[in-house]
Amino acid sequence: MSKDLIKAPNGKTDIKSLTLSELTECVKEMGEPKFRAGQLYDWMHKKHAAGYDDMSNISKSLKEKCLENFEYTSLKVVEVLESKVDETKKFLFGLSDGNIIESVYMKYKFGVSVCISSQVGCRMGCRFCASTLDGVVRNLLPSEMLDQIYSISRYTGQKISRVVVMGSGEPLDNYDNLLRFIDLLTNEDGLNLGQRNLTVSTCGIVPNILKLADKNLSINLALSLHASNNDKRKELMPIANKYSLDEVLSACRTYFEKTGRQLTFEYSLVSGVNDTDADAKELSELLSGFNCVVNLIPVNPIKERSYQPTDRTGALAFKNKLEKSRINVTIRREMGRDINGACGQLRRRHLEETN
Ligand code: SAH
Repeated sequence: MSKDLIKAPNGKTDIKSLTLSELTECVKEMGEPKFRAGQLYDWMHKKHAAGYDDMSNISKSLKEKCLENFEYTSLKVVEVLESKVDETKKFLFGLSDGNIIESVYMKYKFGVSVCISSQVGCRMGCRFCASTLDGVVRNLLPSEMLDQIYSISRYTGQKISRVVVMGSGEPLDNYDNLLRFIDLLTNEDGLNLGQRNLTVSTCGIVPNILKLADKNLSINLALSLHASNNDKRKELMPIANKYSLDEVLSACRTYFEKTGRQLTFEYSLVSGVNDTDADAKELSELLSGFNCVVNLIPVNPIKERSYQPTDRTGALAFKNKLEKSRINVTIRREMGRDINGACGQLRRRHLEETN
């Protein structure tokens, strides 16, 4: 197979990360008729086959050629935590090289939403986040992002109607694979998810927000803001040392102007750190004139840090103050309260238990 095609950790071409036209070239190279590529692609991306064995209309000889030439990403379900309060499920998946990632399934009135990881670990260093405590291990392949969705759909028997890239990792730190993932996920030959039903959350890597804005996509952008001035943001998020609030917000404005998509600002409420009246006032001023919604998330405490969440009353008061300045605000509904674990905690617990 061509050297330039995207590779799995074992060095083989990663068949589930190929576009249909790349796969068609490969199929021709293997001496097979072109339409076989369409069949393989359909099995992988529409029928979510766990492996070649599921592919009833593919010949044994083509399956053997595929096994020889490609790696087939199929995540292993390591553990599923099921909430008894609502129908939220947290999945721990094993990758082909033994790494572990986590994803979340959430059932809402409008349908099913899946939250996926974009990297193993993360190197952004946000102070309150469990995913970043040991840094990044590696980027996820497009196939590994897709297969979190496909595996969850297979496991639950549900159609997935929304995807949020808000699990472990920084998606804009894995930009090329993210874009390929978006292409495969929203392509009509595959799961065909509407771009408007996909949200990418970033800590604010400015050049890549601008690159994404130029792509003419209609995916939603969520920015992890968490503070209303540079000094506080730097304390919580090291990325703020690289890009100022002005730069990040200006990139977000550009994103809105180019895509027309309403922005989401995520704001984790940390007791005594960013939840005072003065913070609410400063935040209102900062966001005035933005077409946006602020998503307040009482911080999920992790044992490695002393941050505590703002209580319900405090969160409501903070919300009211923003609303007085005509800012749209939601408080993130706590899904799966009984199986709660902050971003990346489930994986950490698993690694601690197995090492
Ligand atoms: N790297 C991306 C996406 C992953 S994190 C980003 O920074 O946006 C998804 C969201 O969860 C981010 O807003 C992140 O700041 C937030 N988050 C991480 N750990 C958290 C915790 N312990 N409590 C509350 N929010 C947290």
